[in-house]
Amino acid sequence: MSLLRPISSIGYRPTGRMRTVSLCVFFGLVLGVAGGFLVGRYTSVLGPDQPPPPAVAQPAAGATAPAVLGQPAAPTEPPKEDGPPPPPEDVRRLDTKISGSLYATLAKNLEGRQADILNAQLGRILVWWFEPRRDVLKSDRLQLLYKPPDNPTVLNVMAVHYTSEKNRRTYKAYLYRPEDSRYGHFYTEKGEAVEEYLVNPPIEEYEQITELMNLTGRRHRGVDFKVDMDTPVRAPWKAKVLRRNWNTRRNGYCLEIKYVETGTRAFFLHLNEVLPETKPGKVVAAGTEIARTGNSGRSTAPHLHYELRTNSGKTLNPFKVHETRRAKLEGEDLTAFTAHRDKLDSWLLRQEPADESAPSPSGSTPSKASAK
Ligand SMILES: [Zn+2]
Repeated sequence: MSLLRPISSIGYRPTGRMRTVSLCVFFGLVLGVAGGFLVGRYTSVLGPDQPPPPAVAQPAAGATAPAVLGQPAAPTEPPKEDGPPPPPEDVRRLDTKISGSLYATLAKNLEGRQADILNAQLGRILVWWFEPRRDVLKSDRLQLLYKPPDNPTVLNVMAVHYTSEKNRRTYKAYLYRPEDSRYGHFYTEKGEAVEEYLVNPPIEEYEQITELMNLTGRRHRGVDFKVDMDTPVRAPWKAKVLRRNWNTRRNGYCLEIKYVETGTRAFFLHLNEVLPETKPGKVVAAGTEIARTGNSGRSTAPHLHYELRTNSGKTLNPFKVHETRRAKLEGEDLTAFTAHRDKLDSWLLRQEPADESAPSPSGSTPSKASAK
């Protein structure tokens, strides 16, 4: 990242020390702002040390241009190591057309367990853009930058471009950890969080929503937040404690409370602990710590299951009950993110075969496989 600092400072903090530099600042900004639209036009101004333009890896017809050159090109600077560093050894790239489902596509290109893990992680990103089970179509294009996963609880997707034929656009997400954030999150190319966040959340910070309530609320009646063990769980609103730790084999340590104002009942499952003072009958103020997250009951990784129901038992979607917002990166975070995004894009859209050691033949020569 430090290698990229000079680029981002040229692009975002022009000092005006030289006219030529200002000119390049202008182009840098234009490129940064306009993203990929100008890519084709400006590839020629790249210095010779830059990674070759992604001529072969150009998106298929209908795809928007890659943002790889969002990094300000610095035509007047002498070539030096300002370009993004090459990807680390363990970074892999997959560029493929969808054939069948998302899972089938991954399974065709990757070893089984890796396909499983990446399918789950990708699904959790795509779900914010469309319904993966329904809207993933043959002829869509998946470009994925990842680290070969061996542990499902670690986020291995580094960046994804997904070109949807149906929606006629390319969705982009980049894993990035803001300076003061405990977890990395996925952001769009503009630095907007891919996920929506609940206002008045039961936990202040979490890594990712691993499962939403499904439409009917039958298969999964709540929202799962991937979060470290023992993260404080707080009452989103003033609430009365109803019961604790029932059906623990399935629910693990668990808690039910009722929001005083609306009568909505809230369930927190798979906890590590319900705080001793969180006793049935007690009324707690909004923001009161009531429990700690865990991995108890029928749960395979630390997470919080948060579920809402009406007083009569009808399942409610927390994203409808709570207000929601999307975090936006600003200031220095946005500057750092932009450089990070450009680095990931340069790795994702590199011309050289980026994954000679990738396990399968069909996915490892992506540029050829998918070029029209
Ligand atoms: Zn759940």
